[in-house]
Amino acid sequence: MFRDVIGHNEIKKRLIHNAVNNRISHAQLFWGQQGSGTLALALAYARFIQCRNRQADDACGECPSCLKFNKLEHPDLHFVFPAASNKETKDKDKVSCKLFIAHWRKFLLKTPYFNYLDWLEALGIENKQAIINAEDCNDIIRLLGLKSYESPYKVVIIYMVEKLYYAAAPKLLKIVEEPPDNTLFLMVSENKDRIINTILSRTQQLKVPLPAENELKQSLVEKFGIDETRAGQIAFLSDGDIAQAVKLIDDDEEMADFNAFREWMRLCYKKDTANIIKWVEKTASAGREKQKSFFQFGLKMFRLSVVNNYNATGLIRLDEEQQDFLDGFSPFINHNNALKIVETFNQAILHLERNANPKILFTDLSFNLSRLMHIKAS
Ligand SMILES: [Zn+2]
Repeated sequence: MFRDVIGHNEIKKRLIHNAVNNRISHAQLFWGQQGSGTLALALAYARFIQCRNRQADDACGECPSCLKFNKLEHPDLHFVFPAASNKETKDKDKVSCKLFIAHWRKFLLKTPYFNYLDWLEALGIENKQAIINAEDCNDIIRLLGLKSYESPYKVVIIYMVEKLYYAAAPKLLKIVEEPPDNTLFLMVSENKDRIINTILSRTQQLKVPLPAENELKQSLVEKFGIDETRAGQIAFLSDGDIAQAVKLIDDDEEMADFNAFREWMRLCYKKDTANIIKWVEKTASAGREKQKSFFQFGLKMFRLSVVNNYNATGLIRLDEEQQDFLDGFSPFINHNNALKIVETFNQAILHLERNANPKILFTDLSFNLSRLMHIKAS
């Protein structure tokens, strides 16, 4: 949604204005350097255009179209992105991005703020040249030849259009020049100078600058609920790169989860009831999403403890402080209690999702863990 887009208030207004006044260009290029958040803007714009119940300044978030956007599974929303064969593809496969669409959706659903290299890493092809090839262009042509399912427009988002392979360009050019009715191409680029000229000249160009430090700071406070001082530090450290800022916030959250988990486990082990109750009060007042992510972190630590016990440390990637904790903690997790602990945790997650009272939930879980942690290996 536009309201989830970090920074860029002026650009959002302009895009909304264009859509509302039916001045939608059929080939719109969002270009800006790495971290400027072009993809997030293109997605919000696509959602706004397709929404059945547009509000003055954003999509509604609730109509059938928006619900499909929530999963990135709208039948009139297509993605094209650079790809290359990876260890999951077979020799006979004709590589095109449709082989990786499930992967792409999952990746993009986490955050639209990532760098190109993050995407290549996610595909496991960081040492290869990924391209948008002729097969991808054939797929676009085929998809656009079909009737649109349920919306006024068919939208094709082309991520990193500069990665279009030169020999495939004529195909894309032809369909951009003579598109079927009600087709929108939203192209995203980090380097406009590398876009094949014939394509570039057919697009309406929208420059997306890195947000100013103060704008980024304000936006981080609003979107992530972090305090002004930390938001200011992150805005400064990331130098306007939104993807970098989002990564720093993720790291902060993981660190906070780690500190809370470490404290919790110590209290549970000591069966320190008074302080467990205090800890529960504090943790149960966090938002539900935070609690869920904390549980996921806890589960990860239990799993890693088992791995650590088998000395399969090559599988573990933690910083030094977390690894130290794990080395001390993992001996308490053994074959007599590991399964039971994981099961208890999973139950708690399930209850949390069903809106159980977090205070009761965390208290019960704490006492269960206290008991389970004292079960000896033999
Ligand atoms: Zn809607």
